[in-house]
Formats: sequence, C-alpha cells, structure tokens
Amino acid sequence: MKHVTILTTGGTMAMTHVDAARGAVPLLTGADFLANVPRDLADVRVEEVGNLPSAHFTLEHLWNLSRRAAALVARDDVDGVVVTHGTDTLDESAYLCDVTIDTRKPIVFTGAMRAASDAGYDGIANLVAAIRVAASDDALALGTLAVFNDEIHAAREVTKTHTTALETFLSTEWGPLGRVYADRVVIARRPTRREVIPATRLEPNVHLLKLAVGMSEGLFEYLVDVVGARGIVLETLGGGRVPPWWLPAIERAVQVGVAIVITSRVGAGRTVDHYGYAGAHRDLVNAGCWFAEGLSGQKARVKLMAALGTENARAYFDNAG
Ligand code: ASP
Repeated sequence: MKHVTILTTGGTMAMTHVDAARGAVPLLTGADFLANVPRDLADVRVEEVGNLPSAHFTLEHLWNLSRRAAALVARDDVDGVVVTHGTDTLDESAYLCDVTIDTRKPIVFTGAMRAASDAGYDGIANLVAAIRVAASDDALALGTLAVFNDEIHAAREVTKTHTTALETFLSTEWGPLGRVYADRVVIARRPTRREVIPATRLEPNVHLLKLAVGMSEGLFEYLVDVVGARGIVLETLGGGRVPPWWLPAIERAVQVGVAIVITSRVGAGRTVDHYGYAGAHRDLVNAGCWFAEGLSGQKARVKLMAALGTENARAYFDNAG
C-alpha cells in the first residue's frame, strides 16, 4: 500500500459555520479529514501545518509549507503528499512547490469551494480524489498538481477562474492533464515543461502590477524609487503591450537593476506580437525586460521571488516571450 501524507493548511476545506463569528471559519482538524477517508486508498497520515484562510498566508507560511512538502517527498516512507489549502491563493503555493521541489513523487493540492456546513460540501470528494492521485504511479514525474472535481491539473497551468463556482480551477491554455475515475486515475497528457529553481529563500520585495487603459506609470515609479523593489511583474495588455508613456520608466527601472517581468492580463497565452508601434512587445524586449512564458501574473511573481533567492535569477526567464 502506498504511503500518503496530508498536510493541512486550512481554507474553506476546513471551515464550518460558527454563530459567534457570523460566518464560516477554519475549525476542522486533520483527524476530521482522516475520519472521512476510506481506509483502502492508501496508508494515510495527517500533519497539521496550520488552519488559515489562504488570504492570511505570509511569505513565510508559503515558504515553510513548500519546505515541509520537499522534506516529506525526500523520505523513503512517503510516496506522495496531499496539501489541503484555501482556494484563493492555492495556485501560488502549488506553483511554488512545482518550481522549487525536484521530485518525481506527486505533490497534490486540493481544497473546497463550499464549507463543511454548506449543502454540497465538496471537501471530502476532492480530498479522496487527491489522495488517489498522490498514490498513483501514473502521477509520477508530472510536477505538483491540483485536483478538483476529479480533474487533474498541472500547478504551472491551473488558475482559479470563478469566485464561487465549484468548477473554478481550470488550465486555461491547455486543459487538464487527466481525470480521476472510479476505477483508476487516467493521465491523458504529460506537461512538456518542468523547471526547478534551487531557491534557498523567497525575495519578498517583489510586486505585481496590472495595467489598464490610460493608466499612469506613477505606481510603478513609486515601487522603483520609494519601495526599492527588487522585482516587478507587469500584467501587460494583450500579448505584451504597455502605454508608450510607461517605456521611459521601465527602461530606467531595468537600468537601476530592478527585474521587470512581463506577463499578460488576458489569462492565457505567451506574450509575443509583431507590432511596430511604441510600447509593443518589441520595445519591452529592447528595454531588457524578462518574460514569463505564459505564467499568470501571480505565478510569475512567485517564480521571480524564488529566482531572486538564487545567484542567477536571469537564467530562469525567457528574453523574448
Ligand atoms: N477563503 C478561502 C481561502 O482560504 C477560500 C477557499 O478556500 O475556497 O482561500
């Protein structure tokens, strides 16, 4: 029988309505989860890392969670790890594990959109599916995964796309890797792209800005000049465009050594174009920006924080798209 360790961190998965709080709060324990997991899935152990809404996570929580998952998959008596996590920032924690942990063993994130006190609580169904994936040989060497609604997604690709829908976790560009069926786990495609950054820490002074039509570059300049940002991720327009009045500020930031990483606010796809007008992709390449190859803005920030925790951050980003 495979050995699977569940790391619990909180989220709606662990929440139930409490009158005094006038809403759902994280209260379920590891033992509550274990009591609902069929015995024949795997030899399942539980470790409570925390019990927080994911909006309460600090970078220290994020880093420590990834180090605990790394330590577990390095052990001979652990075949796979499941992490229960709030859905609001799950894609960021899962991607941090994906991009910093060098393992063939499955690390599988899951959560719930409905609290245990809500009709149709989805926590246990997602937990059981995640354990089955963590215990599956077919899930080896896929990187960190997210399992929701029996769908298996790559952490690099998955994102929360709807504020309340159960089917909120989607891989917007390429779709799920596979599906959990009643009799087996089926992997239909394997991700071609896996990279591991040997980060020893997360650089905290890294920020994320989303561009919008007619927006001033003032906040960007504030981050460079006042905050002293080490890195800034820009969610640019379309396939990598900024208003032309942003260019001098971006060029100046690159010159003073701030890592500027380009992503798109669109939600799927790399940043690349063929335009010749001011502020288009070509100008960002010429300015010396780095490119995140289809990562969402929040994941590009996680990657940049990890990369800046190494000696050679530049090596982990593309120079053109
Ligand atoms: N607020 C919750 C969180 O901790 C949402 C969830 O888990 O779905 O992210």
